[in-house]
Amino acid sequence: MTPCPCGRPLAYAACCGPLHEGSPAPDAESLMRSRYSAYVLGLEDYLLATWHASTRPSALNLAAEPRPKWLGLEVKASTQTGDAATVEFVARCKLGGRAQRMHEISRFVREDGRWYYVDGVVDGGVSARAD
Ligand SMILES: [Zn+2]
Repeated sequence: MTPCPCGRPLAYAACCGPLHEGSPAPDAESLMRSRYSAYVLGLEDYLLATWHASTRPSALNLAAEPRPKWLGLEVKASTQTGDAATVEFVARCKLGGRAQRMHEISRFVREDGRWYYVDGVVDGGVSARAD
């Protein structure tokens, strides 16, 4: 079995796969994990579709060089209050040969039964953009 890119000990088809095909994420952490998997797999449309309209960029240009090589995801904490949630995570990647560690606390909201990424605080600085 090839484990899902998001790091859960599940097959992709039983984890992030259904979300990428349109199933609503059951919670913000699952959405966050599916978005990480989407970065790994280059699913730009999915990333834009799960980005809240108020903060969504017009494009991500995931194919632009240098492309990061994603190495792993670790979810540190997740909290939910009604239709708002935060997920704290560390994502590791290699960019241009250099190892990077991205520590972010992301904010999510739920609208009409679907979770959306709003923005995130990266290591003390604010960043809503992945580019
Ligand atoms: Zn997954």
